[in-house]
Amino acid sequence: MASRTANIRTPVYLDNQATTPLDPRVLEKMLPWFTEKFGNPNSTSHGFGREADEAVEHARGQVAAAIGAEAREIVFTSGATESNNLAIKGAALFEKRHRDRRKRVVTLATEHKCVLESVRALEDEGFETVFLPVGRDGLVDMDRLAGAIDDNTLLVSVMAANNEIGVLQPIAEIGALARERGALFHSDAAQAVGKVPLDVEAATIDLMSLSGHKIYGPKGIGVLYVRRRPRARIEPLFSGGGQERTLRSGTLAPPLVVGIGQACALAAAEREEEAVRLAGLRDRLWHGLEERVGGISLNGDAERRLPGNLNIAIEGIDALKLIEHLPDLALSTGSACTSASVETSYVLRGIGLDDKQAAASVRAAVGRFNTPGEIDFAIDHLAEAVAQVRGAPKAS
Ligand SMILES: *Cc1c(COP(=O)(O)O)cnc(C)c1O
Repeated sequence: MASRTANIRTPVYLDNQATTPLDPRVLEKMLPWFTEKFGNPNSTSHGFGREADEAVEHARGQVAAAIGAEAREIVFTSGATESNNLAIKGAALFEKRHRDRRKRVVTLATEHKCVLESVRALEDEGFETVFLPVGRDGLVDMDRLAGAIDDNTLLVSVMAANNEIGVLQPIAEIGALARERGALFHSDAAQAVGKVPLDVEAATIDLMSLSGHKIYGPKGIGVLYVRRRPRARIEPLFSGGGQERTLRSGTLAPPLVVGIGQACALAAAEREEEAVRLAGLRDRLWHGLEERVGGISLNGDAERRLPGNLNIAIEGIDALKLIEHLPDLALSTGSACTSASVETSYVLRGIGLDDKQAAASVRAAVGRFNTPGEIDFAIDHLAEAVAQVRGAPKAS
C-alpha cells in the first residue's frame, strides 16, 4: 500500500503563523491592478483613478464586513506593525495634544514586539505603562487586569490571539471592562481574523489591527479599524496628502488593497469550515507526536487556542539542533521577528518556562493549504529527528 506521505512536495510548510502563502484566488484578483489597471485611487478626475478608487472602496467594504465594522472605519496601512503603532502612539498623541488627562496604558507582557515597543515608547511622552504578566496558560488574569485599569487609563491593548502559543485572550470581557472605565480598547487581531469569530461590536473594540499576509493575502498591507461611535480619537503619525480620512497619508497600493479585501472575504466565508479542518490536522499532529515522540508538553492553554496552533516543549532536545535535522520541514522555534537571534522567546518565558524548556520548544502552525499527508510526513520526520537528537552523544 502506498504511503500517504509518498508524494509529498517538500519542504512542508508548517509555519503559517509567521506568514501564509498567497491564496491563488487572492492573487487572481490582484493581478490586473499590477498591470493595465494602474490608476491612483486619489486621482478621480479620470477613469484610471476612478476604477482604482472603486476597487479600494470595494475592498474596504470586504474588510469591514469580515469584522462587523462600517467601511469608513477601515484605514489601510502597510501591515499590522504600522497599525499597532498608529493605534497606540496615535491614541496617546491625541490625548496628550487635545485632552491631557488620562496617562496610563495597559498591555500584556506577551504581546507582539511592535505593541510592546510602541507602548514602551510612550514612557518618554510621560505615560505610565503597565505590562501585565500572564498565567501558565498564557491567558490574562481578569482580576489583575481589572485592578490595572483605573480612571486614569487611556488605552488597553490586548491581542486577540497570540502569534507564538496561539492562545485566545477573552477580548469580549476585556472590551466591556475597558468601556466601563472609559478607556480605549485596542486589539492586535493579526492572528485571529479568519480563524476565530471576530466582531468589533461583540467585543466592544475601539481599535483593531489586521495584517494581509497572515490571512493568505499579500505582505505589505494591513488595516487599522477605528471606531466611529463612540469615536476613537487618534492622531496620525504621517504628514502628507491626508489620505485615509487624514489618518494615513500616502498613496494606497491598489493591488495590495484588493488583495487584503479578497483575503478578508475568503476568511469570513470559510472560517467555520476551515477552523474545523485545521483543528483536525493540528490534533492529528499532536496525537501522532504524543505516540511517536513522547516527553512532549503543550505550551499555552489547550482549549482557548487557535485551531491551527501547536507550540510544544520536547524534553531533552534543543530546538535549534532539532531544526538542523529537519531540512524538509518548515517550523519555528520562536516568533518570526526574534528567530534571527538565539534569545529564547519572551512569550514562552512569560508563561513560566525556563530557558531550557523554551529552547526545547517548537511551533507548528497548520494552515489552509496543509494536507493530512503533510501532517503524517511531519510526524515521521519529527519523530526521527527527535530520536537522533536525543540519541546523539553530548558535545564536549
Ligand atoms: C505578524 C504579526 C504582526 C506584524 O504584522 P506585519 O503585517 O507583518 O507588520 C503583529 N502582530 C501579530 C500578532 C502578528 O502575528
